[in-house]
Amino acid sequence: MNRLCLLLPLAASLAAQTTPIPDKLVVLTFDDGVVSHATHVAPLLKQYGFGATFFVCEFPPDFHDKSKYMTWEQMGQLSQMGFELASHTRSHTHLSKLTREQFIEELRYVEDKAASLGAPKVVSFAYPSYVTAPMAPGVLAARGYRYARIGGDKPYDPAHDDPYLIPSYTTLATNRDAVLNALRQARDGRVVVLTLHGVPDTAHPWVNTPPELFREYLDFLRDNHYTVIAMRDLDRYAKPAKR
Ligand SMILES: [Zn+2]
Repeated sequence: MNRLCLLLPLAASLAAQTTPIPDKLVVLTFDDGVVSHATHVAPLLKQYGFGATFFVCEFPPDFHDKSKYMTWEQMGQLSQMGFELASHTRSHTHLSKLTREQFIEELRYVEDKAASLGAPKVVSFAYPSYVTAPMAPGVLAARGYRYARIGGDKPYDPAHDDPYLIPSYTTLATNRDAVLNALRQARDGRVVVLTLHGVPDTAHPWVNTPPELFREYLDFLRDNHYTVIAMRDLDRYAKPAKR
């Protein structure tokens, strides 16, 4: 075997490698299709140059109330701005209350909506109210999803954690210090994923993030040189260990 033959497999394996998880890597996610995502959050994130994932649904019972929720056209505009449009089911029903067929239908609805708006294929999912179900990983894998997010208030370790059970920290009006402390956990191969709702959130005040607090988080991330990405951008980094 000549020298070239020995080197080719090495070159192939190097090409297959991806970038290791850097310190200060943060994924921003926004749930429930709240109108402030379009009117406040997205333009602000653009100013900072940050990526983000918007997990959308038709939140009942008053999705039609556009003082609370985005229109599908607004959701499509988020995608056109470069943000990730992702699925939170159609009806925000807990997975424990859905059959496998109903879950597939919920996913299909959002996938079709996203496609009709010209958005890229939906590859990320957020469990409504962080409620999981045993049938979920199989369904998500079959439909080409790569990531699914829960709560849990701990960092995501891609080398060990299941990418269909990615933990996140929920931001509230009252947990500023906990969120800032969480962001400092983004190191040593661990990624910090934040779950935000409206900024502000008039539809669900119990998960409100006040705009001035949100601005403080963005300033913290910028001033401390964090990399802030959408969930699908995890593709750029070390491949998940298991699924
Ligand atoms: Zn939700």
